[in-house]
Amino acid sequence: MLEVVNLSKKYGKMLAVDDVGFTVPDGRIGILLGPNGAGKSTVIKSIAGLLRYKGSIRIQGIDSRETEAKKCFAYVPELPSMYEALTVREHMEFINRAYGVEATEEEIDALLEKFELKDKQDKLGNELSKGMMQKVSICCALIIRPKVILLDEPMVGLDPAAIKELKEVILELKAQGCTILISTHMLEMVKELWDVTFVMDKGHILGTYVKEELANEDLEELFFAVTGQGEKKNTEAGDGAEEGR
Ligand code: ATP
Repeated sequence: MLEVVNLSKKYGKMLAVDDVGFTVPDGRIGILLGPNGAGKSTVIKSIAGLLRYKGSIRIQGIDSRETEAKKCFAYVPELPSMYEALTVREHMEFINRAYGVEATEEEIDALLEKFELKDKQDKLGNELSKGMMQKVSICCALIIRPKVILLDEPMVGLDPAAIKELKEVILELKAQGCTILISTHMLEMVKELWDVTFVMDKGHILGTYVKEELANEDLEELFFAVTGQGEKKNTEAGDGAEEGR
């Protein structure tokens, strides 16, 4: 379970996230959905322990700053960064040892094969394309067998085969009881995945939608209604841009 309570974050004087709170239960996929600059990455980075913030964040009931919490959660950043001196396989072996998860060579092989990285396993971090780096980052997150996983814009930069694989892996993790939080501005990418969606804009959560509770309402329409994005789209359409929904 992931719990975020009264989270606020300022960059200098700019309040990027203002008193945000939400919970994603075990075995559920939460989506943090919002337009560019809404504050999604700031929330994700706060949970991952990369930023100082006000408020409280709990992973499996433990303060996210505690080592016990860090051991059971994984983070796939929006922009992957590699260790230049390590090969693809060594990245996984390093994370495996650092977290003391004792994944077998066969488990590492299976993950590399799943994401079509087996033939790249001896390449160094800086010899990879951005999409390949993203896949290594995902494999490193999965190898620790996380109880909670955070994915920041995970589909961006992946090819269709990798997107399909990632979606399957996300559903497998859910079936195993893992808590998943995905940050995205592309509703299309998470349509078949989500259980609960938190619509965020200008540092606030404007609406929380649980899939089972949405009778005939369409999440996309709700998103446009609460963020006002639809109006902007319609204006653009009037200017000759893509037709508004
Ligand atoms: P995107 O979808 O474009 O990645 P986002 O929803 O993830 O956006 P954030 O990156 O969290 O949004 O940014 C929220 C606000 O905080 C924006 O106004 C942004 O300009 C500001 N911001 C983010 N990082 C910093 C920083 N390091 N210093 C100053 N301001 C920042």
